[in-house]
Amino acid sequence: MQFARFLVVGAANTAASYVIYLLLLLVVDYRVAYTVAYVAGLAGGYLMHARFVFGARPGARSAASYLVTYAAMYLVSFLVLYVAVDRLSVPKPLGMLAALAFTVPASFILLRWGFRPPPDSGETPMTKVEDAKPAVRATGSCLCGAVRYEVTGPLRDVVECHCAMCRKTHGHIGAYTATPKVALGIVEARGLKWYQSSAHARRGFCGECGGSVFFDPVQKDYMAIAAGTLDSPTGLKTVVQIHVASASDYYRIDDSIPQRLD
Ligand SMILES: [Zn+2]
Ligand SMILES: [Zn+2]
Repeated sequence: MQFARFLVVGAANTAASYVIYLLLLLVVDYRVAYTVAYVAGLAGGYLMHARFVFGARPGARSAASYLVTYAAMYLVSFLVLYVAVDRLSVPKPLGMLAALAFTVPASFILLRWGFRPPPDSGETPMTKVEDAKPAVRATGSCLCGAVRYEVTGPLRDVVECHCAMCRKTHGHIGAYTATPKVALGIVEARGLKWYQSSAHARRGFCGECGGSVFFDPVQKDYMAIAAGTLDSPTGLKTVVQIHVASASDYYRIDDSIPQRLD
């Protein structure tokens, strides 16, 4: 398949070079015509081979090996051409074809080697999916942006909490998703402050705008995140209400969402 693409690209490029050769034959010596045609094919050939045959990004290293390959091919094929025309009396217009019969397979082997991905650099074939960091599942922030985070793991569906502590810190009930701590990246911590709200937990908020962002049960391996700080759409839904017995009296509890008293 790669060799087939090599032949197609090579044929297109060679056809162009051959036309140049034939045109130049009208005005200059056949050896000069061949040289000019050969050089003209190099630049376009390099880009076409890199892009369509070997799936490699053009770069200094492969360009250098490309030039070395074709310089070597030029010298050898010039010899083939000379022998064919001057010693074997092959007609000059056909001389280049004799040279091609040798250079096509030889250059394929050398170019495939020249375009190979280096073992330890970032230069990878374009057809290969680049190794990526874990995909960012969600992003979020406080109101002013002095606390920003991203989540690269699963997000739990949302739990609403009616307890007095959540109401006091959020100004209303708490609504939390959660993610493994290893999947939470703090992108901006400039405003991040922690308030030890109990023996078991601390709450993360923004010292600049006052936004309540995290609930950290310090002994646990997950972090609860105030769902309202997620950039939407979140793709989440509220699945349960807890501490319903501690609810205040100014709002109605949504009966369509399962409830727990504690
Ligand atoms: Zn803020
Ligand atoms: Zn609560």
